[in-house]
Amino acid sequence: MHPVTHFLVGWTVAGASGLEKRDRAIVSIAGIAPDFDGAGVVVELATRESNTPLLWWSEYHHVLGHNLAFGLIVFLAAALFARRRLLTAILSFFVLHLHLLCDLIGSRGPDGFQWPIPYFWPFLPNVEWVWSHQWALNAWPNFVITIVLLSATFFLAWKKGFSPLEIISNQADQLFVGAFRKRFGTPQM
Ligand SMILES: [Zn+2]
Repeated sequence: MHPVTHFLVGWTVAGASGLEKRDRAIVSIAGIAPDFDGAGVVVELATRESNTPLLWWSEYHHVLGHNLAFGLIVFLAAALFARRRLLTAILSFFVLHLHLLCDLIGSRGPDGFQWPIPYFWPFLPNVEWVWSHQWALNAWPNFVITIVLLSATFFLAWKKGFSPLEIISNQADQLFVGAFRKRFGTPQM
């Protein structure tokens, strides 16, 4: 699915979990972390016309970050950087798997290509998961899921007093929360 949707999955889980700010950011980042393997698109486009094009996107997207081994790396990294280490690591591992699940069910390409998930890569590179009913990246279920997640994000901002903007700027975050509370009233704690 779209990176924004993946991010919102992680954010919603983190926001509902009671974790503090830093740990919320870690879980949210874990939700989009697998898609770092799509960054090779820059190199691939840049070398497209050369005699030795580097097909880093074609070969590594949905491979390097979309497997159990990467999930374990994220688990350890989350445990290393978080304040509530165990809970943050478990939730990071969990949202990473939600990412894989979302890709499995709803990331079919415009050319009809069904992205397989090589869950045991690199140890069992030939074992790949595909769901034959996988819908397209721009299909309506993905819009519905994104709208539901956005609604949850707005609700959390109103109810709990924080939004994803806190990752960038506390001031912007508080302006955002303030606007909601002005409109809908201050929640009963
Ligand atoms: Zn992905």
